[in-house]
Amino acid sequence: MTPQPNPQAGAAVKAADRAHVFHSWSAQELIDPLAVAGAEGSYFWDYDGKRYLDFTSGLVFTNIGYQHPKVVAAIQEQAGKMTTFAPAFAVEARSEAARLIAQRTPGDLDKIFFTNGGAEAVENATRMAKLHTGRPKVLSAYRSYHGGTAAAINLTGDPRRWANDSGSAGVVRFWAPFLYRSPFHAETEQQECERALQHLADTIAFEGPATIAAIILETIPGTAGIMVPPPGYLEGVRALCDQYGIVFVLDEVMAGFGRTGKWFAADHTGVVPDLLTFAKGVNSGYVPLGGVAISGAIADTFARRPYPGGLTYSGHPLACAAAVATLNVMEEEGVVEQAARIGETVLGPGLRELAQRHPSVGEVRGTGVFWALELVRDRETREPLVPYNPQGEANAPMAAFGAAAKAHGLWPFINMNRTHVVPPCNITEAEAKEGLAALDEALSAADEHTAR
Ligand code: PMP
Repeated sequence: MTPQPNPQAGAAVKAADRAHVFHSWSAQELIDPLAVAGAEGSYFWDYDGKRYLDFTSGLVFTNIGYQHPKVVAAIQEQAGKMTTFAPAFAVEARSEAARLIAQRTPGDLDKIFFTNGGAEAVENATRMAKLHTGRPKVLSAYRSYHGGTAAAINLTGDPRRWANDSGSAGVVRFWAPFLYRSPFHAETEQQECERALQHLADTIAFEGPATIAAIILETIPGTAGIMVPPPGYLEGVRALCDQYGIVFVLDEVMAGFGRTGKWFAADHTGVVPDLLTFAKGVNSGYVPLGGVAISGAIADTFARRPYPGGLTYSGHPLACAAAVATLNVMEEEGVVEQAARIGETVLGPGLRELAQRHPSVGEVRGTGVFWALELVRDRETREPLVPYNPQGEANAPMAAFGAAAKAHGLWPFINMNRTHVVPPCNITEAEAKEGLAALDEALSAADEHTAR
């Protein structure tokens, strides 16, 4: 579909938005949301007809791009057949979605509890862990994001928690590995892994193992910076959980369903958690859906004792039909393999090449279609291009980077001093190269804010 300019319609959409939509995470008068006229594949466009290559996949959820015809058709077909039905019934779209998800999740994560998104999945996973163990506390990592609802935001280890923090009762935070800004002053991946595991073991010992229900980790932390854990780390956490009877929750809301070049990021390691949370890519975000994949042992806890939790729209038929179609498309079109191939042959090498030429790039890290560029003022000192949790003018260098990217037709993902390269998993080689060329221009704008 070619974008048709219609600035008048765009102005009306924008005016109604400004008058009545209260936007998330925003100071309402300091934002200027783009009015979006349409989207297809890896692109979207505004009412002036300007097209953007979407290197954000929305909020990292359009894993098969926008408006995939087979998924759109499946949603239409389901709407014609059965638009909605209450959760306590067995419904074809729901049971088929659960079957397909269970088939793809690792190990014996064979029972699926459906939610409407990631935060609800995290809330329910930690509730299950507490009821299963009879213990009160959850350990979660700094530099993490687990969702915006009351319990999920308290588990989150980034500044979005600060204004919402209810004292984080029952949450104890620890440092997960991140060699580039090592909390453990490590110099090698192996050191970082060993020290992070020792730190976690010490945290467990001093908290009292018998008080800890769960450890929750993003398999590869997403919003907080796409820090691929060093080899052996997740295995080590699994071993600690086994040793102390702690439930291991892996949050795959962002990393799951192809983003890392495998169905789940955990598949890179062979580690099987006791609970796995998912959302976003499960149906490319076409209709809200999330859930928890549950191990046999935890499912057994609730075999003859009710699970005290549920949601009106749990496993909504439209969302589940979209999931069935998405998972089938991913299989038929080799989308997971495509993400792995593009990461290995285009994005990885392309981003590393950009890093060599642009002094603002401190580090490139990632896998599949899940990459972060850490932007710095000074490569030697690693001083970030903007401070932690930048406000107002302090964010000017990243704003300049973003404006330059958009001027070159690229919609970038920006969080603090990082840009994340997180396009759809089925992005083509030509599109990925087009995005890298625009990124090259945008990084030149960031370079102007470096110290040397
Ligand atoms: N966990 C992770 C790892 C996420 O990235 C997100 C969303 N970015 C969430 C949980 C929360 O998901 P939602 O916004 O759908 O509630």
